Amino acid sequence: MEKLLIVVDMQNDFVTGVLGTNEAQTIVSDVADYVKNFNGKVIFTRDTHDESYLETQEGKKLPVPHCIKGSDGWQIVPELLPFTNNSNVIDKPTFGSLALSDFLKENDFSEIELCGVCTGICVISNAVIAKATRPNTPVSVLSNLCACVTPDSHNTALEAMKTCHIDII
Ligand SMILES: [Zn+2]
Repeated sequence: MEKLLIVVDMQNDFVTGVLGTNEAQTIVSDVADYVKNFNGKVIFTRDTHDESYLETQEGKKLPVPHCIKGSDGWQIVPELLPFTNNSNVIDKPTFGSLALSDFLKENDFSEIELCGVCTGICVISNAVIAKATRPNTPVSVLSNLCACVTPDSHNTALEAMKTCHIDII
């Protein structure tokens, strides 16, 4: 059985765009190197909203339109774009992806690894979904290949995932 790497939301808006951070920019080249050398299957999640974003629950709490389908900000960052194709990107309308859960139900892997942004929002949401879908598969998060809004929120999320038996490496 092969390993799976889930690259979470490495999109322009979260790196250099409206919700970009220095922390996210710092990890891009290392994530690209890791993806390039990964021995297994790689899939990408893509945060995807439409023009009605501000009326959604997420939009009310975070009134910054981002990752609007088809926009530049929605695209996977240029460094990772070459590794994407028609069948390895999962669009998701909110933090955690139930389509990812469906994919994991249909496809068994020896191990599941996650990296990307933001550690405390979409990485943690999808790590917990992976663990819930495949409780007997080791799930780990690559802490140096994740970034959050602040280093503090990054560390808080890593601690929370550890509590849920997600390995932090
Ligand atoms: Zn979003």
